[in-house]
Amino acid sequence: MKYQKRTSTPPKERLCKKCGKIKPISEFYLRKDNYYRYICKSCESKQMSEYYEKNKERRHEYYKKYYELNKEKIIERRREYIKRNYEKIRQQRRKWYQDHRDELKKRSLEYYYRNRERILNRLRDSSKRKKEEKTK
Ligand SMILES: [Zn+2]
Repeated sequence: MKYQKRTSTPPKERLCKKCGKIKPISEFYLRKDNYYRYICKSCESKQMSEYYEKNKERRHEYYKKYYELNKEKIIERRREYIKRNYEKIRQQRRKWYQDHRDELKKRSLEYYYRNRERILNRLRDSSKRKKEEKTK
């Protein structure tokens, strides 16, 4: 068996294990241990984004499943939290409201003027619906 001495000078090009192309060594990342990666930079970035995409889906699936399985627990916990922190939340809300009161007033007035027709129509509709329900 012939022993090949490893040269200290880096190779000029390298075969990418992924796309099978021979590319200049500058197309490969140098690892911390001074060896070059087996796949080229473009394949690596493609792999990374694929991995990320796949994982994103998986993560999404996981959370969805987790939510489905623990829905009641999650809702219950949220409700618990609100109950336990009711005063705090109310205070925060009130403070937020006070801090933004002028702005809110202005905004709601603006909103009202901008959507006057729609709001009036909606009110009319809902009162009509109520009447209709009563006559049923
Ligand atoms: Zn490649």
